[in-house]
Amino acid sequence: MEKRKLVIIGSGPAGHTAAIYAARANLEPLLYEGFFSGPAGGQLMTTTDVENYPGFPEGISGPELMDNFRKQSLRFGTTILTEDVQSVDLSSAPFKIKGAKTEAEADAVIIATGATAKRLDIPGTRDGELWQKGVTACAVCDGAAPIFRDKELYVIGGGDTAVEEATFLTKYASKVYIVHRRDTLRASKIMADHAMKHPKIEILWDTVIIKVEGSNIVESVTLENLKTKKQSTHSAGGVFFAIGHQPNTAFLQNQINTHPSGYIIIEPNTTKTNIEGVFAAGDVYDHLYRQAVTAAGSGCMAALDAERYLTAQGK
Ligand SMILES: Cc1cc2nc3c(=O)[nH]c(=O)nc-3n(C[C@H](O)[C@H](O)[C@H](O)COP(=O)(O)OP(=O)(O)OC[C@H]3O[C@@H](n4cnc5c(N)ncnc54)[C@H](O)[C@@H]3O)c2cc1C
Repeated sequence: MEKRKLVIIGSGPAGHTAAIYAARANLEPLLYEGFFSGPAGGQLMTTTDVENYPGFPEGISGPELMDNFRKQSLRFGTTILTEDVQSVDLSSAPFKIKGAKTEAEADAVIIATGATAKRLDIPGTRDGELWQKGVTACAVCDGAAPIFRDKELYVIGGGDTAVEEATFLTKYASKVYIVHRRDTLRASKIMADHAMKHPKIEILWDTVIIKVEGSNIVESVTLENLKTKKQSTHSAGGVFFAIGHQPNTAFLQNQINTHPSGYIIIEPNTTKTNIEGVFAAGDVYDHLYRQAVTAAGSGCMAALDAERYLTAQGK
């Protein structure tokens, strides 16, 4: 069994930034980068160009950026295990971590397992089809891309996220349709009013997208009205899923306080969870900003919080 001062679970921008800081502070972190839980490297492995991560004026591909993060973690002595953490025992320190192949004990743990953007299984939107070729799950990340400029864009969802993403996209699009399967928005009243009054937003009530087509990039969507069953095909430049995210916290088996939605609750302005010595970083707690740079920032905070905790414990 590996015995470490610090174990980091997750290999997105939050986990690797925590590892870089912890390794440079001689904490010799052990990082579980995942395997079946999602691509090692996190959500950015599923995207093409990242244009808003500071330091890359020409942009950088998501996989290349995460490869750089990983190299930097390794350079300072992080040990990386390519496996999922299946369960943890956080009842007392040292904490126990059970991976798919290994077991470890740690005086402190940083949970950086991120979140997974929910998608619907619509023909044309799957991996290998038009996913990341005009179909995406992050308007703030991808909306400014040239392929969406002056195009008619379709946002799927009916909550605050859908309205926010649609409003954001009006900066670039000629028109934004919110495709909602019900006849009222779940968004807060103020957000819903805003969407309904916006000259560039139209809400398609009781409607679903049943097909997305295009030779190499999104060119059209086929809609179905759930009440009338009428189907129609329209030209489209992009499709944005805005139906929420699922934080990757199931393996914690309710040992840490979370919101009902599964996001970890942290002490404000820190990365501390309700368990002393256990910290959270990135999208696993942040349901508001959900950006690579904010995840990296909180990874740095978590490493510094863990270092202070370990020093106070005399470790
Ligand atoms: C399509 C898309 C495009 C995006 N584009 C941008 C962009 O251009 N700019 C931007 O700033 N943000 C973008 N984002 C958002 C950004 O990717 C996230 O905010 C960021 O990756 C969050 O980082 P994280 O480290 O918290 O978690 P994640 O990136 O989600 O990484 C979590 C990691 O934890 C691992 N993991 C999960 N469970 C376990 C387990 N049990 N054991 C071990 N490992 C586990 C996963 O495999 C994954 O590697 C995009 C997101 C998506 C989906």
